[in-house]
Amino acid sequence: MVGGLVDCPLCQGLKKIGCPTCGGSGRLTSRRGDAVVQTPCPDCQGDGVCQCTACLGTGVKQVVPF
Ligand SMILES: [Zn+2]
Ligand SMILES: [Zn+2]
Repeated sequence: MVGGLVDCPLCQGLKKIGCPTCGGSGRLTSRRGDAVVQTPCPDCQGDGVCQCTACLGTGVKQVVPF
């Protein structure tokens, strides 16, 4: 059996996943008293997506044969 590269199962080869910090919205909402303050998500810089943690942005996974 030969190892190879397959599409990353987490991001399906897209290299990016929805940001778990902001839930993909790109913004974090916080309350300050009566005011609702929205700030850009620091983890994805407001993109709503961040680098896939499973493939580290490569989009592929190495399949290691036994
Ligand atoms: Zn985010
Ligand atoms: Zn991935």
